[in-house]
Amino acid sequence: MDFKKLFDTYDWDEVKDSIYSKTGTDVLHALQKETRTLEDFKALLSPAAMPYLEQMAQLSQQLTRKRFGKTIQMYVPLYLSNECQNICTYCGFSFDNHIKRKTLTDAEILKEVSAIKSEGYDHVLLVTGEANQTVGVPYLKNAIRLIRPFFSHISIEVQPLEQHEYEELMAEGLNTVLVYQETYDKEDYRHHHTKGKKSNFYYRLETPDRLGRAGIHKMGLGILIGLEDWRTDSFFNALHLNYLEKTYWQTKYSISFPRLRPAEGVTSPKVIMNDKELVQLICAYRIFDGEIELSISTRENENFRNNIIKLGITSMSAGSKTNPGGYAVDPESLEQFEISDERSPQQVSEMIIQQGYQAVWKDWDNCLSNKIEYAELQGIKTV
Ligand code: SF4
Repeated sequence: MDFKKLFDTYDWDEVKDSIYSKTGTDVLHALQKETRTLEDFKALLSPAAMPYLEQMAQLSQQLTRKRFGKTIQMYVPLYLSNECQNICTYCGFSFDNHIKRKTLTDAEILKEVSAIKSEGYDHVLLVTGEANQTVGVPYLKNAIRLIRPFFSHISIEVQPLEQHEYEELMAEGLNTVLVYQETYDKEDYRHHHTKGKKSNFYYRLETPDRLGRAGIHKMGLGILIGLEDWRTDSFFNALHLNYLEKTYWQTKYSISFPRLRPAEGVTSPKVIMNDKELVQLICAYRIFDGEIELSISTRENENFRNNIIKLGITSMSAGSKTNPGGYAVDPESLEQFEISDERSPQQVSEMIIQQGYQAVWKDWDNCLSNKIEYAELQGIKTV
């Protein structure tokens, strides 16, 4: 069974009712168990869990330290292009926004890379809009080939691709793909994605299956918090994660928690999640799944990021620019969204160290990738 079939057996309203009817007893039961089910995750997500937040935070911290030690992996986004053929109601790069469009050339990519490397980064996340003609597979292949000598871990957050296209990019050195469903509510999804390839809900939903079949090293999942009821959406995201972990067990997984931020042409979120609720969600994921990597970006403010370090997060970006050329080429171009924590990577690293944690700049090397190693053993050129 692929995820689409499993997903279609669930009803949004029934799931929502079930989460909101969980009781304190369900929460205590979930906290006391050794391993947790999706029903337990619902309890940990529910409003009934709020009085147990302190207990959840302590357990989350304990489980995170047991699996990951006191470490925070550092990564940085590199926006390659703001061209996009889709209309998404929440994004500054949306096709209907009349902004200056920009796609980095080879020379500009290398200039950005030089600025990023000077900050100490070894893990880069390449980001583009969804414009197949401009930033399709040939552009991405070229970009990965260009930057591969400078980074040991390359992630992308770009348009969903076919399995064979992911395989081509992996052969160039791609390690990780982030693909967020944004919302699992089909109606709401339609409302927010009115034009372009992204309007196909199921094509996006099935992307992690294509990635799993391609044998990707790691994939990142998430919802855009603010579009719909975050508790129900998070349940579906955990359902997706649970299915993927069982089906593609050799792949690693991460979850991100983007809360909708102000951006050009964007209206206010339909649903507001406060800081305590975000802490609850992060702890719920950790208690549900001790292996999962949990990531927080510069969308969140300084104070929140300082305090969440010890509660379950395992990776963080810092000093991020969300505009193509933002580090060195064209710092004034339009951002995808406003960032909230404007500290430099060095300042964030010092904050992590002050809390008794280690900022990890390199946690992976391409020589560990079986596919590349195999190709190299066979004498196939991979660089
Ligand atoms: S969210 Fe992605 S696909 Fe949608 S408008 Fe922004 S860049 Fe394009």
